[in-house]
Amino acid sequence: MKKQLTIALVAHDHRKADLVEWAVFNADFLSKHKLVCTGTTGNLVKEAFEKKGVKADVTCMHSGPLGGDAEIAALVVCKKVDMAVFLIDDLNAQPHEADIQMLLRQCRVHNVPIACNRYSADLMITSTLWDKDDYVPTEPKYVEFKRRRK
Ligand code: PGA
Repeated sequence: MKKQLTIALVAHDHRKADLVEWAVFNADFLSKHKLVCTGTTGNLVKEAFEKKGVKADVTCMHSGPLGGDAEIAALVVCKKVDMAVFLIDDLNAQPHEADIQMLLRQCRVHNVPIACNRYSADLMITSTLWDKDDYVPTEPKYVEFKRRRK
């Protein structure tokens, strides 16, 4: 890939092992891009990369429950994120559910691709569309829908 992307990485506690494994498996790719992460996730990715001798540009924001998701959402709003990998723990309630929903919503509103499982993340990082200069992502349209009465 020619373009350098800014990739957001966030994983809830029960999904961190999955995200770190994915990041290490894709270290060659990820080390060519800028990574912006919630605090704990980012530090775990950094440690795992260091162990493997991988040099990468990893920025850690606050921890998710302390505002890290909100900071990443703000970067999304400012068009500073190209794609996000967000491994959510769907089996346990989170104290910062409002921030999680905000990050997901801002990615949708600002048309930022967001992968919530490794399969989607794999598809995204292998897409050839990133380098297609003539590919313009279609922005979401919010058109009022009139439901028909029977
Ligand atoms: P963390 O935040 O990486 O600091 O644990 C992730 C989250 O829970 O949103």
